[in-house]
Amino acid sequence: QGNDPLLAVRDVSVVFGGIIALNGVSFNMLQGQILGLIGPNGAGKTTLFNCLSRLYQPSSGDILMEGKSILTRPPHRIAEIGIGRTFQNVALFPNLSVIDNVRVGAHARTSSDIVSDSLRLAWVRRGEADMNKKVHEILSYLDLDSVAHTVVSGLPFGTQKRVELARALAADPKILLLDEPAGGLNHEEVHVLGDLIRKIRADRKITVLLVEHHMGLVMSIADHVVALNFGRKLAEGTPAQIQADPDVIKAYLGSK
Ligand code: ATP
Repeated sequence: QGNDPLLAVRDVSVVFGGIIALNGVSFNMLQGQILGLIGPNGAGKTTLFNCLSRLYQPSSGDILMEGKSILTRPPHRIAEIGIGRTFQNVALFPNLSVIDNVRVGAHARTSSDIVSDSLRLAWVRRGEADMNKKVHEILSYLDLDSVAHTVVSGLPFGTQKRVELARALAADPKILLLDEPAGGLNHEEVHVLGDLIRKIRADRKITVLLVEHHMGLVMSIADHVVALNFGRKLAEGTPAQIQADPDVIKAYLGSK
């Protein structure tokens, strides 16, 4: 059904010791949407992001991808169901080249359910040519051809972030989780990033969850925004609705 959510967050709570980091948060992500997740410091954005990428287990509630709970799946196996992520601080293999980092991403989609080694080898051999093609396509898509064989640690921060995006895209995600992608970027770079995220959604039909402090970026590219405060959902709606929401305005003014 066209209107079924791709991803559904249902009444998710996370408690750390005595601290309620998330308190009964629910929202849906529709196929092809760019959803911005905002909130003042400590609102629970990172906690929710970590639940989606399976680093944290919710204390209660459920997260459904295409109607099926993801909560029994370990973090290293979420790429297989089409969830890809980037990190707030770039988390590439610094001593590997750009192309090798992207190859790692391409392999992440490989199912670890394949039982025997000989079957696995056959699968890998057959997939290798396809995978190479995919890796090269993504490198050129993100304009990384010229640095394909450069060791990642020697690249400027903005380029490293693009490599991270390439690595995530190489696993063919249905949903891309972006953790503060604008962090550490200058004004011009943020603008370029915004255009790139929109382009990725348009060209590759990928649904994007954007956790971001940079309001300008969220409000200019998100279709839908969910605002958190003190672990609860404060409001959701279009960027215009969110910007005009008295509770959201109060939360931001009160926190600064
Ligand atoms: P920021 O914008 O500063 O990154 P955030 O919206 O991402 O904030 P979270 O990092 O999710 O907020 O934090 C939500 C609450 O949960 C905070 O009170 C935080 O101190 C607490 N918290 C987060 N992670 C942990 C943890 N691992 N152990 C204990 N408390 C935690």
